[in-house]
Amino acid sequence: MAISRRQLHGFEQFLKDFVPQVARKSKQLNQAVWLLETTGSPDAADLKAELETELRMLYNDKKTYEQLLEWDKDKSIKNPLLKRQLNILIRSFKSNIIAPKLLREIAEKESALSQTYTNFRPKVDGKYLTDNDIRDILKHENDPKKRQKAWEASKEIGDQLAPQILELVALRNKAAKSLGYSDFFQMQLDLQEVDGKWLLKFFDELATQSDQAYQEVLKTIEKEQTKRFKVKSDALGPWAWSEPFCQEDPLGGKELDSLVKEIDLAVAGTKFFQKMGIDVKGILEKSDNYEREGKNQHAFCINIDRDKDVRTLNNIKPTIKWLETILHELGHAVYELGFDPKLPWLLRDPPHMIPTEAMALVSGRQAYRAKILPSLIGKKSPLMDQADESLKRRQLIFSRWVFVMTAFESELYRKPKQDLNALWWKLVEKFQQVRPPSGREHKNDWASKYHLGLAPVYYFSYLIGELFASSIEESLQKQNGSIEIATEKGGQFLQQKLFAPGNSLSWNKLIESVTGKPITSEAWIKQFAK
Ligand SMILES: [Zn+2]
Repeated sequence: MAISRRQLHGFEQFLKDFVPQVARKSKQLNQAVWLLETTGSPDAADLKAELETELRMLYNDKKTYEQLLEWDKDKSIKNPLLKRQLNILIRSFKSNIIAPKLLREIAEKESALSQTYTNFRPKVDGKYLTDNDIRDILKHENDPKKRQKAWEASKEIGDQLAPQILELVALRNKAAKSLGYSDFFQMQLDLQEVDGKWLLKFFDELATQSDQAYQEVLKTIEKEQTKRFKVKSDALGPWAWSEPFCQEDPLGGKELDSLVKEIDLAVAGTKFFQKMGIDVKGILEKSDNYEREGKNQHAFCINIDRDKDVRTLNNIKPTIKWLETILHELGHAVYELGFDPKLPWLLRDPPHMIPTEAMALVSGRQAYRAKILPSLIGKKSPLMDQADESLKRRQLIFSRWVFVMTAFESELYRKPKQDLNALWWKLVEKFQQVRPPSGREHKNDWASKYHLGLAPVYYFSYLIGELFASSIEESLQKQNGSIEIATEKGGQFLQQKLFAPGNSLSWNKLIESVTGKPITSEAWIKQFAK
């Protein structure tokens, strides 16, 4: 091979020594994560925390970071795959050269916050309620007074958490400033190759473009909910929605569930991907698909070794939501298995959450397409006509929620010492058009959202993923005359264009290469906001 005949560049030698250590540690960490999430074992939790620190310590080295920056200036490194690996390493090292004491303080505060979050139970009429209890009430209860009580209870945790979150915000900002950033929001975006100014402007424009369609959705919801709760529209309040943040479609759902009652959803998922020429049986065999005591109650996909071991965790129940979820997680999984195996380890990864979410979302949304549903569940029903409308509402409602989260987070880190609760409601009113009920003035309603404390600067990826998902469907329409992804041609297109490049391109270059243009909201607007 050419490489062995010449002297290795210092950077190539570094890759040879360094990457196997990271690969080994990551695999161990992923195995611990899997064990923890499938069993809830405290030993696995300790092991996971230990391995996380060990992995982070591999990157906690200022000298290497400076050496990487030197190599970045070295004109003799021309190979684009080497340059990309250098770029990835520089960003990984940069986020880990923050003073170890500060990193530890942040980790401790996060863990304390997470504990408060897990253990807090608001009391309503002498009874402690879990998150699920509150969601249940908001889904099924018809008495507005009881709904209001449950909604108010869901906000109580905000007052508990706000001081802790603000301490974390201060520490995160301190870390960001030590790396030369104005605040943590800007740092996180920059390390993810996202331009913060562009993002906020892009979302503001999208909010304007989709405003009329959202108004119509609101009108429909208002009409249905005033009937259901027998109140006037100005008395509806945020508790008229089906969960505490008005981020999901409060209409429909139950009827659609009846469609999948007797369907084996794992089989439906297998057939769906088979039509793309992709066999997911191996993934499902390694996966953990059904509810069990001690197991994580949500769903995710994990690539254990960036080789062939990709698994999903599900808790399949006979609902349309779980049909969507299984397609979503398998979408992530087939992406992870589709990287060009010749790519070096560092590049066998999506360049950002955005493209892998786009694949997961474009797969998941098929559960709400009236045209696709019959082939997924093997029967037809007039109920299916509701699916398209429901998908449209879900897209518009969720986009509004992402606008609130993104605008709020940027302000939270830019100026933490302001009336955050007033800011929160101002944004909720602006984007979601949900009016604050009276008596919220001195509360901390913003702080009841889990992601603000524990999954910061992250939400925007879902919406960009939805926009990219629509652009993918538009590209398929142009090439194959149909937006359907579950076809052989669709599968080939995704495999070659989206999955194979891995992290050899930045997320925005990858989008350009898949759709022929930079990220745009055009296709999404055409599908859901026209
Ligand atoms: Zn996902």
